[in-house]
Amino acid sequence: MPDPKSKSALKKLPSVDALLRTVDGAQLENDYGHDLVVAAIREVTGDVRRKVGREGSTIPLPEIILQDVQLLLQAWTRPTLEPVINATGVILHTNLGRSPLSAETISAIQKAAQGYSTLEFDLESGKRSSRYLHAEDLLVRVTGAEAGLVVNNCASALMLILAALSNKRRTLVSRTQLIEIGGGFRIPEVMAQSGAILEEIGTTNRVHLRDYQQAIEELPIKLVLRAHRSNFQLVGFTSEPTLEEIVKVAHQADIPLVDDLGSGALLDTAQYGLAHEMTVMESLAAGANVVCFSGDKLLGGPQGGVIVGRKDLIDKMRQHPIARAVRADKLALAGLAATLLHYLKGEAEKKIPIWQMISMDLDLIEERARHWMRVLKTGTLVQGESAVGGGSLPGERLPTWLVALEIKNPDQFLALLRRSHPPVIARVEDDRVLLDPRTVLIQQEGALLVELQNALV
Ligand SMILES: *Cc1c(COP(=O)(O)O)cnc(C)c1O
Repeated sequence: MPDPKSKSALKKLPSVDALLRTVDGAQLENDYGHDLVVAAIREVTGDVRRKVGREGSTIPLPEIILQDVQLLLQAWTRPTLEPVINATGVILHTNLGRSPLSAETISAIQKAAQGYSTLEFDLESGKRSSRYLHAEDLLVRVTGAEAGLVVNNCASALMLILAALSNKRRTLVSRTQLIEIGGGFRIPEVMAQSGAILEEIGTTNRVHLRDYQQAIEELPIKLVLRAHRSNFQLVGFTSEPTLEEIVKVAHQADIPLVDDLGSGALLDTAQYGLAHEMTVMESLAAGANVVCFSGDKLLGGPQGGVIVGRKDLIDKMRQHPIARAVRADKLALAGLAATLLHYLKGEAEKKIPIWQMISMDLDLIEERARHWMRVLKTGTLVQGESAVGGGSLPGERLPTWLVALEIKNPDQFLALLRRSHPPVIARVEDDRVLLDPRTVLIQQEGALLVELQNALV
């Protein structure tokens, strides 16, 4: 029970209406809308009431109450999906949204978002058309495949491919490729969900061509799947036939081969000092009948699942009910088309942020790091490594220059940086905070330095 003194004090607590009638209250109502402001006032005045009752504290002035209301409203309405500065040096950072987009891609997405579009409309005939057309011509031109199809992501692409082509029958896959990619994506589980029957061959470390031959001779195999290992390496006592060899065996029995490439490189990673990653074109040239890959890994576009390959097989997928369930939205289609155009025009390395990062000149990275240290008036230049990330090129590293900050409590400093606006994501190694210029977008550099200066004082 509140004592009589606090009871009389509570009478002085302004009412919701009184608070709304003040200048500050009216401003908040204008900014956030009536109902939300009332809810926030109730929450704050409820706290005041409890405090006065319990601790006998005095009633704050209306301005003070409204300040708390404003803080609460800010917290309630702050977007949870916030832009951050990625100073980790991991280029395709899955937790940070994989690939940033090119200016042209952003503009295409914005145009598609702003109004109506020809998503499923043919201007020539004035009749309904298909959303699948938009990226297809470009995909065909860029990859040389017969046909193409874009769905929601690579996981759903694989699901659709297996559902449409395996027809609930046996799909052959090697145990060396029964991978888990992260976020609960496990090849065997996706296969089971698609209705395909998984026919495993080989062992975890070794599979031979005769394993493929034997299974195909003995069982009614409908499809052969090859999955890119993406996030780990097979080393030691291992063996795997090449894609060409598997294709040959499958084709002799008239069985289509599906290659889940995952990251889907369209450029040769070897020209940047990385291991060579099989490109989509190479997979097709090796004879894969269907190839699938993500839109936001090494392609450097928006989220999407790209499928290219034989026309009759792609047609089967288009007609399958799952296609409707996993279809790409207009924003992704607009963005993907704009990104693909960079490849077609031979300007991918220049225009697509992830390729700019992969190909970034070491001298430029050093120059940027030195500039940061001059502005910050602290830090040491150290050699280090950046990673491609995102389930692409596991174990591969790019040499880089890092700014190392000697901080008493580095983990606390990282936490402080995460709370800045925009949040800065960095890493700690050997008790030092490390910042990699490679993954910091040029237009974010100013903001980064301001936040670092604030955190360093
Ligand atoms: C990343 C990856 C996927 C999943 O791609 P999402 O676009 O994230 O759905 C599927 N297969 C392989 C081999 C991958 O590397």
